[in-house]
Amino acid sequence: MILELTPEQESFKRSIEEFAREVVAPRAAAIDESGAFPADVLRAAAGRGLLGVTIPTAWDGAGRDYVSYALAIEAIARASATVAVALSVTNSLVAELIAHAGRAPHKERWLRRLARGEAIGAFALSEADAGTDAANQQTKAVRSHGGYRVTGRKVWVANAEAAAVVVVFAATRPGLRAQGVTAFLVPMDTPGITRRARNDSLGVRGLGCMDLDFDVTVEDEAVLGPVDQGFPLAMWALEGGRIAIAAQALGIGEAAVDEALAYAKTRETFGQPIATYQAIQWMLADSATELAAARMLTLKAAAAKGRQEKAGFEAAMAKLAASEAAHKAADKAMQILASAGYRRGSVVERLFRDVRATEIYQGTSEAQRMIIAAKVLGGIG
Ligand SMILES: Cc1cc2nc3c(=O)[nH]c(=O)nc-3n(C[C@H](O)[C@H](O)[C@H](O)COP(=O)(O)OP(=O)(O)OC[C@H]3O[C@@H](n4cnc5c(N)ncnc54)[C@H](O)[C@@H]3O)c2cc1C
Repeated sequence: MILELTPEQESFKRSIEEFAREVVAPRAAAIDESGAFPADVLRAAAGRGLLGVTIPTAWDGAGRDYVSYALAIEAIARASATVAVALSVTNSLVAELIAHAGRAPHKERWLRRLARGEAIGAFALSEADAGTDAANQQTKAVRSHGGYRVTGRKVWVANAEAAAVVVVFAATRPGLRAQGVTAFLVPMDTPGITRRARNDSLGVRGLGCMDLDFDVTVEDEAVLGPVDQGFPLAMWALEGGRIAIAAQALGIGEAAVDEALAYAKTRETFGQPIATYQAIQWMLADSATELAAARMLTLKAAAAKGRQEKAGFEAAMAKLAASEAAHKAADKAMQILASAGYRRGSVVERLFRDVRATEIYQGTSEAQRMIIAAKVLGGIG
C-alpha cells in the first residue's frame, strides 16, 4: 500500500496553497462580513484551473485526478470556507455531472464554459420538505409541447446569485419518489425563475445562497440523463460533492489549529505561554490526530472516486469523519483562544460558524450514518 502523493499531486498542492495564501486568504474576512459572492476570487481561481479540476482537457478542464481535486479544496478552505464550497458545488455537482451524464450539446453549451470558469453552476435539489428526504420532490415537471413545464420552489441553492446554469430536480412521475425524478439543465436567465436572496446564513457567508421559485418551460434538450433517472444522478453527484465537503472541513479544521497554535505560543498566563500547559497541548494533539485520520479517509474516498469506483460508502465516511473532526478542532480552538476567540470578527469565530455547515449540507451527519449503517449492517439478518 502506497500512502504518498505523486510528485505531480505534491506540486499542484503547493501551487494551490500559495494561491490560497496570496489571493484567497486576504479576502476571507471581507467575504464573511459583506456576505457578497466572491466572483473576482472565483475568476482568479479559474485561472488556476480550479473550476473544472477533474474535467478532461478535451472539454477545457484541467484534467486532474480526484485526489488533486480534494487537495485543492482543502487548501482553499484553509483560507476561505466560502470560496471552497462555491468551487465544490460548480465542480462536483454541476460540471462533473454534465461530464458524466450530459449529451454532446450539453457539453458544448455548458461544460466548456464551466470548466473555463466563464460560467458558474448551481444545484437545486433541496426543498422545504425535501432535505434529508430528498426523494420527496414537490417540484413537478409536466410534459408540454415538446418540452416540460417545471414548477416549484427550491431552497438554499448555493451559487445561485452568480450561476449561469442550475441543475434542477423535479418529479416527472409524482408519487414514485426516487424512481420518478428527472434532472434538468436550466439557464438562470430563463423567464419564470424568481430569485429570493437569503442573507440569513450563519456561516459560509457570501455563498450566494438563494431560494428559487420556478415556473419555467424548457425544451426536451434540457433533460440531463434519462427521464425519471434524475435521483440516482443526484446521488452520483453527491458522492463527489461529499468528498469535496470532507476536504473543505479538513481545511477549516486546519485553519482552526493554525489559529490556536499561534495564539498558544504567544499568550502567557502565570508567566509562561499557554502552549507549555499539557491541557492545551492535548487539545492540539487531539485535533491534529483527528484531522489526520479524517484526511486518510478523504484521500481514500478521492482515490476510489478517481478510479471510477462506486464511492458512496467511502464518501459518507470521509464527510462524517472530517466534518466532525473539524467541528471539534474549531471548538477546541475557541477554547484555547477563550475571550480572544469569542468575539465577533475573530478568525476562530468565523471558522466556528463555517464548520457547522459541513455537518448539514450535501447530506447531514445522520444521512451519512444511514449510508454507512446500510453497508455495515448489510450482512446481518
Ligand atoms: C449553507 C447551505 C447551503 C446549501 N446548499 C444547497 C445547495 O446548493 N443545493 C441544495 O439542493 N441544497 C442545499 N442545502 C440544503 C441542505 O442540503 C439541506 O439543508 C440538508 O440536506 C438537510 O435538510 P433539511 O435542512 O431539510 O433538514 P431535515 O431533513 O429536515 O433534517 C432535520 C434533522 O433531522 C435529521 N433526520 C432527518 N431524517 C432522518 C432520519 N431518517 N433518521 C435520522 N435523522 C434524520 C437530520 O439529519 C437533521 O438533523 C444547503 C444548506 C445549507 C445550510
